[in-house]
Amino acid sequence: MNQEPIYEGKAKKIFTTQNPDELLVYFKDDATAFNGVKKGTIVNKGMLNNKISTFFFDLLGKNGIPHHFIRMLNDREMLVKKLDILMVEVVVRNIAAGSLAKRIGWEEGRKLPCTVVEMYYKNDELGDPLINAYHIKALNLATDEQIRIMETYALKINDILTDYLKNKKLALIDFKLEFGIHKGEVLLGDEISPDTCRFWDTETGEKLDKDRFRRDLGDVEDAYEEVLFRLTGETVK
Ligand code: 5GP
Repeated sequence: MNQEPIYEGKAKKIFTTQNPDELLVYFKDDATAFNGVKKGTIVNKGMLNNKISTFFFDLLGKNGIPHHFIRMLNDREMLVKKLDILMVEVVVRNIAAGSLAKRIGWEEGRKLPCTVVEMYYKNDELGDPLINAYHIKALNLATDEQIRIMETYALKINDILTDYLKNKKLALIDFKLEFGIHKGEVLLGDEISPDTCRFWDTETGEKLDKDRFRRDLGDVEDAYEEVLFRLTGETVK
């Protein structure tokens, strides 16, 4: 496949392919939190996130969201369209949790009266600070039109995922999205997985996402396994 490594992030490695418009994404078991301060391994996470992301990209594609995913290549690798990544992280929230609960002084688990969309500057050195549309323009991170498209897709993705997950007895608390430009078009990129979303069991409230790692709650692998199983009926053990 003429693969050259071009980037290694905290959870994934990116390789070139023989097609200059396409990249290979390899999902690692490495886990980090708090901007890399906490480090560890979640056994089989690479496989689980590859399969869970594949499932979500398929679901979103069928519902009209343009994305970078082309196909899964094997247990740990997917083929994607090459993007010029917009250095903005878009977070969508339905229930107060994590950094929002802290920032506004709400207890975790309190339902937000309306969906909240936030933008963060994707910048590890600065610790991904919260920014708004004015900052994005001033920093030249995206155009007004691209901001509008990201916001529209983010809200639509929230509706699609929330609806779908309800039937799997999973509450979508919040999630982070990344977007990029491919041939002039804004596409959803990155991954959608328990690393990037908060999923709580609708009956027990049990956390089935990376907060189990961040907060040392135990049973981290089992939580990721449970999400894949509820979505696809598949297991990787
Ligand atoms: P919070 O701002 O509460 O820490 O995160 C909100 C949501 O976005 C959570 O679902 C969290 O997993 C996701 N999120 C925000 N920033 C990041 C990030 O830098 N990496 C990952 N993996 N997820 C993030």
